[in-house]
Amino acid sequence: MNYKHSKQRQAVLDAVLSADRHVSADEVFAMLKERDSEIGIATVYRNLNLLTEWGALSRIKDPEKGYIYENAENKHYHFHCMECNKIEDVPVEYAEELDELISEKMGVTVKGHTMVFEGVCAECRQKEEVKA
Ligand SMILES: [Zn+2]
Ligand SMILES: [Zn+2]
Repeated sequence: MNYKHSKQRQAVLDAVLSADRHVSADEVFAMLKERDSEIGIATVYRNLNLLTEWGALSRIKDPEKGYIYENAENKHYHFHCMECNKIEDVPVEYAEELDELISEKMGVTVKGHTMVFEGVCAECRQKEEVKA
């Protein structure tokens, strides 16, 4: 692994971890481009994929932006608003025991699970109530 590659990977990881929200590959690219004009979008994509495979980052599908990334350490669920397409974190504890249960029942190693709740967000609900 050459030095430049690992330096860029670290920069990609830092960019995602320092953002206080979910970020898409394009957003990570824009953040890094300011500091390192030599970095390419393909490098960003490749490193995001690697970091996800290695378990440092987790990703969720965003209907508008493609995949969005965040720190894998703090596991949580997501809520997707079907009106405005916003993705929010859900303030409910991640069910670690489910991972253990499935691992035990199936004789596999579960590394995590994702859940996306679908519906209408608080803001969109309010707009609908105003209209009605
Ligand atoms: Zn909404
Ligand atoms: Zn999240």
